[in-house]
Amino acid sequence: MIIQIDRIPWEGLDVHGELPAAVMELENETDHIRTRAPIVCRLHARIVAHEVLVRGSLSVKIRFSCSRCGEFFTTTIHEPDFQEIYPFSDPHETLDLTCDVRESIMLAFPSFPRCEKTCGGLCPRCGTNLNRSSCACSESPRDDRWAALDLIPDRQNADTRT
Ligand SMILES: [Zn+2]
Ligand SMILES: [Zn+2]
Repeated sequence: MIIQIDRIPWEGLDVHGELPAAVMELENETDHIRTRAPIVCRLHARIVAHEVLVRGSLSVKIRFSCSRCGEFFTTTIHEPDFQEIYPFSDPHETLDLTCDVRESIMLAFPSFPRCEKTCGGLCPRCGTNLNRSSCACSESPRDDRWAALDLIPDRQNADTRT
């Protein structure tokens, strides 16, 4: 996303465009975030003295794996207040906004994404996705893994975990 400073008229310049998803380099960073969608930029550049002021909003569609249930879901991340100031000495310079746009949108990513605010997560005992079905664990507070030990007479009395 490049702006040529001498193309910015006095009233400012709308800079609407898209940056390819590849600039976020997500495929190298984590298995929990995926996207092929571009970052949509709706920016406005204005010259004030010897600075270019760029403001506007960014958004991108991202697939996260839910921090509770592990299922992938798609959500749109918005950064409504992108704002950067670029000082310049030569009006024939160009500005590349790519790094700042990338950083700004990625700071807006949630640390613990959730598919739904009410996501039930996985049962800590049997791993059932509690959004889809329920399991018997909550009815009997025992850990199923200990049930096998009950079949061994010697261990039965020693195991007080019920
Ligand atoms: Zn979830
Ligand atoms: Zn369970």
